[in-house]
This record gives sequence, structure tokens and C-alpha cells, in this order.
Amino acid sequence: MKFYSTNNQKNLVGLSEAVINGLAPDNGLYMPEQIPVFPRDYFETLSKKTFQEIAFDIAKAFVGEDLSAEQLKKIIEHAITFDAPLVEVEKNIFALELFYGPTLAFKDFGARFMSQVLGLFAQQQNREIIILVATSGDTGSAVANGFLGMPGTKVIVLYPSGKVSEIQEKQFTTLGKNITAVEVSGTFDDCQRLVKQAFVDVELKENFFLTSANSINIARLIPQTFYYFYAWSRLPKKENVVFSVPSGNFGNLTAGLIAKKMGLPIYHFIASTNVNDIVPHYLTTNKFLPKPSASTISNAMDVGNPSNFARMLNLFHHDHEAMQNEISGYSFTDEETQAGMNEVFKKLKYILDPHGAIGYLGLKKYLSANPENVGIFLETAHPAKFLDVVQSTLKTEVAIPNELKSFLSRNKKTILCGADFVSFKNILSKAAG
Ligand SMILES: *Cc1c(COP(=O)(O)O)cnc(C)c1O
Repeated sequence: MKFYSTNNQKNLVGLSEAVINGLAPDNGLYMPEQIPVFPRDYFETLSKKTFQEIAFDIAKAFVGEDLSAEQLKKIIEHAITFDAPLVEVEKNIFALELFYGPTLAFKDFGARFMSQVLGLFAQQQNREIIILVATSGDTGSAVANGFLGMPGTKVIVLYPSGKVSEIQEKQFTTLGKNITAVEVSGTFDDCQRLVKQAFVDVELKENFFLTSANSINIARLIPQTFYYFYAWSRLPKKENVVFSVPSGNFGNLTAGLIAKKMGLPIYHFIASTNVNDIVPHYLTTNKFLPKPSASTISNAMDVGNPSNFARMLNLFHHDHEAMQNEISGYSFTDEETQAGMNEVFKKLKYILDPHGAIGYLGLKKYLSANPENVGIFLETAHPAKFLDVVQSTLKTEVAIPNELKSFLSRNKKTILCGADFVSFKNILSKAAG
């Protein structure tokens, strides 16, 4: 499989280059040259396959020419070690629970698959790989845990100081080994900008073998298609299925769009956001207006300039109407999110985290006008990951899973950094050297 840049379809590269580059040299995002399409009868077999078997089929269709069946089997076995159960929370509304990985959030799927692939390439290249990752919360922990202790790799996590929850912070600032956490006095967008600047810095490029692990990496996008197939296969009724995706950088939703292109019969998508409503706003007005991100209780989605939007435009050939036909966008305030969490807890005894709550609310809004559909919302994090918000909203205690408890007892270790590139470059050079 070859991959092209969204900025120039003629710039084709192979899998290892696309994965190691992360971002294309022309600042575009990589896309597969061809999206593999499964025949219709394949989908009839899905309900009898395991999650790992489905994951293997999809991975093979994308990169079967680049990696051997044996390599792919190993990658899947190490990456997909937990389930993604589909839970019916009310009639025709299902939660796809994506939080059974080591850091209790959906990013474990993409991060673990990518770290396996990159680890393999590091071995082949015989050179240390430095992985840069900007995080608004969950990416950092998923990536850091995916790479922890992997030979030939060093991870540098940038995060906005004071803007992630204590639990999130502990999951990537307490690991040690090959993981360094950089605490930036700024926003998530500042962190993302610093990473992007590092990639175009000539001096850094000469000295280090840099790669990115944000949701822009194609090796994170591919495994995120797995659970769309899996969820669909586990539905009792498979007609008119809509997916509501709580979104920030829009990697998760983009993976869903790709799953549909692969032949998965998805009727419609719902882009659900907090007040950082750049994409819902685009869908209704045809105007894409990035702006500084606003802080919310669903902070893993506080993104003012969603990077995967370039891939969405690419998938729809920049046709606004075509995108509108497939995706509806809704945004919700913190007050609405909390009201939704309360209602679901009281009526249905189901505890939503603030991100999943936005997915649920978007789905409800869509279904109220389209009641003939069956809806799945992605529950992207375990409620205990956002303990303070969930407990103060629901006025109930949430049990903390053991994985999280062990992180909480450890000591945080970070390097403080200004939001300017010179400061970051200094820190990066020292940490990577
Ligand atoms: C990252 C994240 C999101 C947003 O996912 P994108 O792919 O960036 O749109 C939603 N929920 C949680 C819990 C997250 O960590």
C-alpha cells in the first residue's frame, strides 16, 4: 500500500515512511492510496468472527503487502488485548465501550497498534526513534504506555500545564524509563504547534530521528476502524445504523468514514462536540473557522483546529454537500453535558463520562428527528478517568479500577517549558540526546 499527502496526491510513500514521518513533509496528512473494499458477503461472516480476527482481516487489507501475515498476527495479538463491548443503554441506543485498555480510553487501540508497528521499524532501521506527542489528556498516556520500555524508542509527551485531570497526568508523568513529560505553560494548541515546528526544524531533523504519535499518524487511524466493524457485527438488528462520535481532533470519526468506504453499511454519522464546535459549524455554514480552544469538562476534545479535518475534506473531495449528507454535527455546553449525564444515570442507571455523554446527546438529538434508526455512541473513556467531574455531577461515588489506582500512588516528574519554540527545542535536544 502506498500513502499520499492530503496536500499533494502525487507525493506517494510506503508504509514505513508514512508511519515514521507522521506528518508529510508538505504538512499534509497521509491517506491510503486505495481504501480496500470488502465484498458484501464478508459482512455476513462478521458476527462469527472474534475482535482479533476482524482486526487482522482489516489490517491485512491495508498493509498485507508491507508486513507478513506473521508480523501482523503478532502486532494484533500485542495491541488488541482487550474487548470493546456493545452495551444497550436504552431501546435502540448502544454504548460502544472503548475503555478497557491499560489507560482506560479508546486511544489505547490506536496507540498500541502504532507502537508495535514503529517498534518493528526501529528494529529494522537500527536507529533510535524519538516519538513526539502533544496531548490534551488521553493521547499522552495511551502512547506513553504503548511504548513504555520498548527498545530503540524514546517518547516525549507535551501537555498543557493545569489543563488535564490529575489521573490523566499521572498516567504519563510517572512512568520514567524511555518516557519524558514536558509541561507547557499554554494550551493544547500550543503543544500541537510546538510539535509541528519541531518537524520542520532543519537542525532537529539532522540530529534526531523524529516521529509523531498524534492522531495524525496513519498507524493510529487504521486500528480505529476495527471497532466500527466489530460493533456493527454485534448488533442484533443491522439496518439504518448510525454512529455518534464525540470528537476533538476528529481521528475517531475519520476512521469511521473510512470503515464505511470499506463497505461497512453505516447509514449516517454524528459529529458530537463540546463548545469547540468548528466542524459542526462548518457542516451547517460551509465555513471552516479554527479558533483558540475553549476549556470544558470534556477536555480531551478541547481542540480549536481539528487536524483530521484535512482528511475529512479529502474523503469527500472538498464537496461540502456530500459531507453534509453523511454527517450531522451537534455541539453541547458543559451544562447540557452534565444534565445529560444526570438524566442517563437517574433513568437508565448508566454512568457516562463527559465525552461519552456528548456522544449520547448528539445521538439523541439525531434520533429524535430520525426515530427509525439504530444508534451507537462511542463511549471513549472510563468514567473514573474524569472522577471529579463525574462524582460532582452525579453526586455518587465511582469505583476506581485497579489500573488507575496504581498510577495515582506514584510521583509526578515533568520538565517545565514555555510555549515558545526556542524553549522547547532546548528541552527536546537534551531529552532526546
Ligand atoms: C481524544 C479523545 C476524544 C476525541 O477523539 P478525536 O479522535 O481526537 O476526535 C474523545 N474522547 C476522549 C476520552 C478522548 O481521549
